[in-house]
Amino acid sequence: MSREDQNLRDIQHFGEEGGVVPVVDVAATSTFLDPKDMDKTFHSELEGCYLYSRHSNPTVMAFSKKIAAMEGMPAALGVASGMAAISSSILQLTGGEGHVVSSHVVYGGTYALFANVLPRWGVQTSFVNTQDLDAVESSIRPDTKVLYVESLSNPMLAVAHLQSLSKLAKKYNLKLVVDNTFTPLVISPAKHGADVVVYSCTKYISGASDLIAGAIVGSQDFINSLIDLNHGVVMLTGPVMDARIAHELYVRLDHLPVRMRAHSEAAMFFAKNVEEQGVKVVYPGLESHPHHENMKELMNPSYGFGGMVMVDCGSIDRATRIAEQLQNEKFGLFAVSLGFSRTLMSIPASSTSSEIPEEEQKKMGLMPGLLRLSIGFVGDNEVLLKKFLDCYNEQE
Ligand SMILES: *Cc1c(COP(=O)(O)O)cnc(C)c1O
Repeated sequence: MSREDQNLRDIQHFGEEGGVVPVVDVAATSTFLDPKDMDKTFHSELEGCYLYSRHSNPTVMAFSKKIAAMEGMPAALGVASGMAAISSSILQLTGGEGHVVSSHVVYGGTYALFANVLPRWGVQTSFVNTQDLDAVESSIRPDTKVLYVESLSNPMLAVAHLQSLSKLAKKYNLKLVVDNTFTPLVISPAKHGADVVVYSCTKYISGASDLIAGAIVGSQDFINSLIDLNHGVVMLTGPVMDARIAHELYVRLDHLPVRMRAHSEAAMFFAKNVEEQGVKVVYPGLESHPHHENMKELMNPSYGFGGMVMVDCGSIDRATRIAEQLQNEKFGLFAVSLGFSRTLMSIPASSTSSEIPEEEQKKMGLMPGLLRLSIGFVGDNEVLLKKFLDCYNEQE
C-alpha cells in the first residue's frame, strides 16, 4: 500500500452514534450556549467554535481534512467548484493587485478567468510556455506573486516540470499554485514544491459526474486566510461547499485510489494498443510522450499514469464523425468533463478550449483534430479497443 492510501485511511470521523461515516451536519448556524463566546469567536479569540456555515461547517471540515491528508499538506478547504478554488486562491494570494505568470496550456475556463475577469479585479496575467524556464524567468516582474500551472495540462497532457518551477518560485518569492485535477493521487504536487494545490472535485474526486465542487489545499495559514471574517476571499465572496456535497466527497475519497488505478490501467491498455496500430496518440505513460521521463519522476508509482488520452484524428470533421460513431457503438459518451466511470469524449478545439484564441491554440500544439478521451473503467478493455479501432479505421 502506498503512503497516499495510508494517509487517507488515517482520517476517520465517526458518526454521532459511532457510525462508520460522519453525519451530514446541515446546520447553517450554531448555538452558543454562553453568549459571551459568540463575541469572542467573532474577534478570533476563541478557536474551535462553529459560527455560521459560510465560515466553517463540521462536514466540510471533515472532507477538507481528508483531502489535505491525501495531498500530504497541512490544511484544505472544500469550495463550490474548481473555478471557485482557482479564483479564490489567486485573489487571496495576490490581494487583488499584482501579476500572475501562468502556463499557456491551461483549462479554457482558467484561461478566460485570467485573461478577461481577473484584470477587472486588479490582477494581470502573462501566459508563457512553462516548459521553457528562461521564458518563465524573464516574464517575472517585481509585482509577480503567483506562478500557476496544471500538473498534467488540459488538454495537451504536458507534464509540468514542478521540480524546477518550484525552485524558481522560491528564488523570486512567488507562490507556486498547481491545478492537479487530472492527476489526484498520481501526482502529489506538494512533494515537488507546490505551495497551493487546487482541484475541480467535479472530475475524478467525484467520479460520478453528478456534482460540482472544488478544493484548495495548502498551509494552515493560507487556508485560515481564505475564511478570515474581514479579509477572506471565500468567506466574503461566498463560493462555499455545501455540507451535503462534502459528505458525498468524504465517502468517495476512500474509493479514489481504486478508481485511479482502474482508470490508469484501462488508459494504458488503450493507448499502448492504438499506438501499435499506428494511431497518433498522446499519453504520458507512453515512451513516445515528450515528458514521459519527467512523469515517471513526478508520479506516485502505484496509481499509474492517469486516465486521460488524446487521439489525433487529423481534422475536426473526422474527429466529430469518429466520436459520433463511437457513441453509437457504446464505446463512450460525447460529453465534456472527465473522471467519470465511463469513457467521455470531447473535441477540445471546439469545446473546453474554445475560449483560447486560435493563434494561442496553435502555439500550444492544440491541433483541431484532437479527440480527448477520459478513459472509463466500466467494460471489457479488449472489446472497447476493438470498437475504437473499427470506428477509427472506418471513418476516412
Ligand atoms: C473542469 C476543470 C476546472 C473547473 O472546474 P469546475 O469544477 O468545473 O469549476 C478547472 N481546471 C481543470 C483542469 C478542469 O478540468
